[in-house]
Amino acid sequence: MVKADAYGLGAERVAPALYEAGCRHFFVAHLQEALAIRRLVPDAMLAVLNGLWPGDAPVYAEQGILPVLGSVAEIEGWTGPALLHVDTGMHRLGLSAAELDILLDRPALLRRIELRYIMTHLVASEARDDAINATQRERFDGACARLPPAPRSLANSSGIFLGPAFGSDLARPGAALYGINPSPGQPNPMRATVRLRARILHMRDVPAGEGVGYNATWIAPRRSRIGTVSVGYADGFLRSLSGRAAAGFDGRLVPLVGRVSMDLSTFDLTDAPGAAAGDWLELIGPGMPVDEVAARAGTNGYEVLTSLGRRYRRIYVGA
Ligand SMILES: *Cc1c(COP(=O)(O)O)cnc(C)c1O
Repeated sequence: MVKADAYGLGAERVAPALYEAGCRHFFVAHLQEALAIRRLVPDAMLAVLNGLWPGDAPVYAEQGILPVLGSVAEIEGWTGPALLHVDTGMHRLGLSAAELDILLDRPALLRRIELRYIMTHLVASEARDDAINATQRERFDGACARLPPAPRSLANSSGIFLGPAFGSDLARPGAALYGINPSPGQPNPMRATVRLRARILHMRDVPAGEGVGYNATWIAPRRSRIGTVSVGYADGFLRSLSGRAAAGFDGRLVPLVGRVSMDLSTFDLTDAPGAAAGDWLELIGPGMPVDEVAARAGTNGYEVLTSLGRRYRRIYVGA
């Protein structure tokens, strides 16, 4: 899964790295995203999840991009190879049970489609005890049994970790590839892929009783050493991390204090006396995993990664 610019990490670098590693099935959300990487993943299946927009069919056909069809209207607009998405509970995209009936009553329509995969998407795969997982798998089996035989695609990252019952011909991992923990509450079986560091621009002493940042939401309880770093919410360092984030420095965590502003944030380095202007704080990394940043921001790791801004210098290691 390389949608949303490979979860914010840069599809034009990530897709070829995955291709090199042997991946031959790629998914994006938009046709535009597929066009951007088509030549980077030659002879690989490249599919667009968000459906077939009227008028786009010739572009798909010319570029060898597969639409994921999820409605009778879309199927009417396509001839050739495609994936078929059936809705088993998300109620967002994919053929509803009623639309599947309509489709099965029109075999000529179905015959125009070369079914590469039948797929569905799990609602709550990261919640292993949620009964919806088994319900969706049963509904998926039921839908596939009514359709012409074709390979199946079921699990996203967390679905893979639900066990063999959620196996299929093709899994569609995204988050796990990028180091987000697919099994929350348990140790992360995946390796981290992203490390985010920011430089301390400036150090200053703030007297006890003085505030730091917009609206002085943090008041120094003692004379404090404040380090200002050049990362803010315009870089996707979410404003909801105000007063909540922490960064790794010299083997310890130092707290963010006050508001995250557009281009800057402030850390209390009083207990890290070695810190000086020019030093780096680790905003995401071994001491501060992406899932922990997400928890502190009140969101998930997906949003943290897809929010990563355009101003960072991005270094791809081993790719
Ligand atoms: C985003 C997406 C995935 C990947 O989900 P992860 O949880 O990131 O592994 C798989 N399938 C569909 C349909 C998606 O939209």
